[in-house]
Amino acid sequence: MAVILDGRVYADMALDAVAEKVAALKKRGITPGLAVILVGDDPASQTYVRSKGKACDRVGIYSRTMIMAGDTTQAELEKQIAQLNRDEKIHGILLQLPLPPHLDEQHALSCISPEKDVDGFHALNAGRLMLSLEGVQPCTPKGILFMLKQAGVPIEGAHAVVVGRSNIVGKPAAMLLLRENATVTLCHSKTPDLKAQTLQADILVAAVGKPRLITADMVKPGAAVIDVGINRVNGRLVGDVDFENVSGVAGYISPVPGGVGLMTVAMLMDNVVSLAETSLA
Ligand code: NAD
Repeated sequence: MAVILDGRVYADMALDAVAEKVAALKKRGITPGLAVILVGDDPASQTYVRSKGKACDRVGIYSRTMIMAGDTTQAELEKQIAQLNRDEKIHGILLQLPLPPHLDEQHALSCISPEKDVDGFHALNAGRLMLSLEGVQPCTPKGILFMLKQAGVPIEGAHAVVVGRSNIVGKPAAMLLLRENATVTLCHSKTPDLKAQTLQADILVAAVGKPRLITADMVKPGAAVIDVGINRVNGRLVGDVDFENVSGVAGYISPVPGGVGLMTVAMLMDNVVSLAETSLA
């Protein structure tokens, strides 16, 4: 039976460390600040935004949520971002995705100052990650690495297979694993024989958004399986991994809910603090 990678335990650990850093910054007269922009009334996004606000309260980060109407124009959104770029109370700006379809996500993200790009989605920070330079790392992949390291899963020399090549999870997760000297395979919707790839994985990251895509016969015995997927099936949240059966084969497995999602929020807090610290330098 696999070891369960309990996101609550690892997120608590990370948040306690963040709270200490916030206290140290406050002693120096700085309160780290996060602004979250939410456009429209997508219920899942509203839930995520609330959980980010709660995490800020827990660690002592100042937070502000800017709620914008669903019919906000690109110019209005970018004006809001520009205001926050100039706001000294704000060290991190998060644009909650997805945006309504009439808005250009990439262009809006490019308007966030790279110094306040708390998600690490700006091209400059994505490029820094690619070049293995210091910079903001996207929260979900950063949380995955935190979990693996805390659990003592060997990364160096391991074969990591990442399923999903999005800019926010799959690609940066592959980059971070590569940085830690894993041999990385990045799979996607056009990968012809997914099972042949996943069976090679010592570390398997599933970031697709398809319930039960990863079944027990696709997993190498003893592998560390990280389930990033969030899917709603009959009102229940499930990941991309068939948890019940895969946990009988894997060495480690992260559950959904209660796994990577909590790490994402914890790493967001860590990124706000890092940006506040950098602003002092
Ligand atoms: P996305 O839709 O941008 O990308 C999905 C990727 O999956 C694509 O690269 C696509 O090529 C690949 N894919 C699709 N079908 C496939 C198949 N049959 N086989 C192999 N690959 C396939 O998704 P995303 O934004 O990276 O999110 C992925 C999942 O992770 C979603 O369920 C999302 O809700 C979840 N998510 C969770 C967190 C978290 O904090 N836990 C954060 C971000 C996203």
